[in-house]
Amino acid sequence: MNYISTRGGGSPVDFETALLTGLAGDGGLYVPESWPQFSTAELTRLARLDYAELAFEVMAPLVGDAIPSARLQSLIDAAYDSFDHKAVTPLVQLDRRNWLLELFHGPTLAFKDVALQLVGRLFDDVLTRRKARVTILVATSGDTGSAAIHAIAGRAAADIFVLHPHGRTSDIQRLQMTTVTEPNVHNIAIEGTFDDCQALVKAMFNDSDFRDKARLSGMNSINWARVMPQIVYYFHAALSLGRESRPTDFSVPTGNFGDIYAGFAAKRMGLPVGQLIIATNVNDILARTLATGRYAVGEVSQTISPSMDIQISSNFERLLFDAAGRDPAAGRRYMDGLSQSGAFTLSEAAHQAICEDFAACRIDEAETRAEIAQSYRETGMLIDPHSAVGRAAARRQIQPDRETPMVTLATAHPGKFPDAVQEATGQTPALPERYADLREREERYEILPNDLQAVESFIKARI
Ligand SMILES: *Cc1c(COP(=O)(O)O)cnc(C)c1O
Repeated sequence: MNYISTRGGGSPVDFETALLTGLAGDGGLYVPESWPQFSTAELTRLARLDYAELAFEVMAPLVGDAIPSARLQSLIDAAYDSFDHKAVTPLVQLDRRNWLLELFHGPTLAFKDVALQLVGRLFDDVLTRRKARVTILVATSGDTGSAAIHAIAGRAAADIFVLHPHGRTSDIQRLQMTTVTEPNVHNIAIEGTFDDCQALVKAMFNDSDFRDKARLSGMNSINWARVMPQIVYYFHAALSLGRESRPTDFSVPTGNFGDIYAGFAAKRMGLPVGQLIIATNVNDILARTLATGRYAVGEVSQTISPSMDIQISSNFERLLFDAAGRDPAAGRRYMDGLSQSGAFTLSEAAHQAICEDFAACRIDEAETRAEIAQSYRETGMLIDPHSAVGRAAARRQIQPDRETPMVTLATAHPGKFPDAVQEATGQTPALPERYADLREREERYEILPNDLQAVESFIKARI
């Protein structure tokens, strides 16, 4: 399988190159040249596989011959052995039509482990074979950073630098990053928002001199290899509900649009996906875009679901590419508008195409708290604020006259956000045993201003 840039520049690259470079040379995002197709008969066969076997079947056509099959399967096996639930992403029934897809059983208790536990191993494998070493640069609103650090810590082939917005992550999110003290791990707290961190990372990638000298590589969800493993759990959920020929709806707590874009990819690959609900907190740029056809960047508000406090949803560019009939000129026009004036207007056709696959729903802070409380009353389960945004959106969007099952993605363990859960329910969610002493561990991080030069010099001095 070859990968092309959403902005049409450069020539197609193989999976390995897309993995190592992250962003395409023209600033675009890599997408597969075509979508592999699974027929209903094939889906029926896949329904009998366990998670790691299914993951291989879904990803093998996307990886192509870049990695030999036996090696790919063993990397996948190792990645999902690191999860503390046999089903990897268990599906929990809430009522007749509603299900919760628990994506938080990995090492850092958020769904980002599903992708990064594999991506870390893919990096290590490819770099070791090439006898190469890279500098991985990650911007995080909280969960990506710890998941990337746990995927890379101690690996010989890479240094990792993680930029998080100073004081804007939860304590536990910060501690999961800053208490990892392997020498190849570097945490930077930026005096700014997540969007500032993301802009710094983009600027460093666009500084070609710095990029080449530092041999930069990305692990954010702009990297295709981050999106790909997430496609698997949409297959896993729908097939375990026996829905190989009938649709399943999904409600997805959304920030950077990587997770829900994986659901869109699953649909393009032949999985019958019904509604894809973009569940946002008050940072509702995507809900406004669906309602008005205009994507206009606003101010970021801090919420109790900080991993979704985002105004620029990078992966939306991948969707735009498909919505405009895979025309890179359209994507370039949109993204120019975005960088010049912070806004662009979708064409009628693209807007309509997006609304056919997606619905969007904005859940405010009071509604999020109320949902955590209601979920607890109804099921006795504690859910985290991100998952609560997804559940509240699912409640609002579910259509009473349809029989389609609704799967809400539970993206983080409630123990990662104890304050919000405690306030809504009076219950303190426990962290798994392995994190019991987290608050006593030593922290290591550097606070830097929101300034490109300052961050580049910090990195240069350490590689
Ligand atoms: C990252 C994250 C999200 C948002 O996912 P995107 O792929 O960025 O849309 C939602 N919930 C949690 C807990 C996260 O860590």
